[in-house]
Amino acid sequence: MSALLELQNISVSIGSAQLLDGVSLRLERGQTLGLVGESGSGKSLTAMAAMGLLPLIGGHVSDGSVRFDGQDLASLNDTQRRALRGRRIGFVTQNPMTALDPVQRIGAQIDVVSRLHLGLTKQAARARTIDLLTQLRIPEAQAVAEAWPHQLSGGMKQRIVIAMALTGDPELIIADEPTTALDVTVQAQIIQILAGLVREKGVALLLITHDMGVVAQICDRVAVLYAGRLAEEGPVAPIFAAPQHPYTTALINCIPQEGMARGTLRGIPGAVPSARQYPSGCRFHPRCTRATADCAALTPPLITRGDGQAACLHLPEVAL
Ligand code: SF4
Ligand code: MG
Repeated sequence: MSALLELQNISVSIGSAQLLDGVSLRLERGQTLGLVGESGSGKSLTAMAAMGLLPLIGGHVSDGSVRFDGQDLASLNDTQRRALRGRRIGFVTQNPMTALDPVQRIGAQIDVVSRLHLGLTKQAARARTIDLLTQLRIPEAQAVAEAWPHQLSGGMKQRIVIAMALTGDPELIIADEPTTALDVTVQAQIIQILAGLVREKGVALLLITHDMGVVAQICDRVAVLYAGRLAEEGPVAPIFAAPQHPYTTALINCIPQEGMARGTLRGIPGAVPSARQYPSGCRFHPRCTRATADCAALTPPLITRGDGQAACLHLPEVAL
């Protein structure tokens, strides 16, 4: 059976800038794939490509293909793509404020999505809204449906956005840094809600994050992007036990350890280069502790390691 979502060797360009270069990803039904990397690595762009939304930002897939349930997105027309996004793919944004209309009550905003995608009557749509809110363990669902967005906390607003993403009963949820705008205490709740949807409803989750700790907690596989290219991809357990790519190692080392003094959060020295100034050879070479002279000259190919793959000229000798 084909994967639910499959990106085959895609390159994405906006104008003359090539922002993604030969990225391949596979997400099976009911699985969770973590897509990680620092800001500017191309994570959101990958999500937009998966939803066929690149034209919105003036971008396009210049090479490769995006398939959902075996169907090439490029073969669909706008109406078909919209239907796919509303019904079979649900999207959870980074900032719940931008996803909610401030001048409409919560219930009405969710109702309208069910009416549009499922063709429900007004009453049936409201019943579904209350049911979704209840499924997301929102207390007093009736009262919340009557509330205005500004009356709700950030965490509650993000639950509403998740409810909206669920209205079409999607097979895939794409969540782009869904906890970034939230207080630390609510972040874990939102992650648990998403993990619960995978467990209880069998949806697949593409979770975009820069937090390797979250990936370790809830993902089956992880894909690491750096400067528009795939650095490493594979099942979570072996990658955390023995990361093959130096960038993966660096990201794992950024996870705050218990007992670490506050404020000693480790970062990776240097920054992700901009698409206009990608370094030659391996794009990670200016920041890499393992780099040698050939790293600036040669582009590392993806090499299979165990059930995963990594793109580095100097992979550890021992395979997984
Ligand atoms: Fe580092 Fe070289 Fe491997 Fe790139 S190819 S990750 S610079 S060792
Ligand atoms: Mg982003």
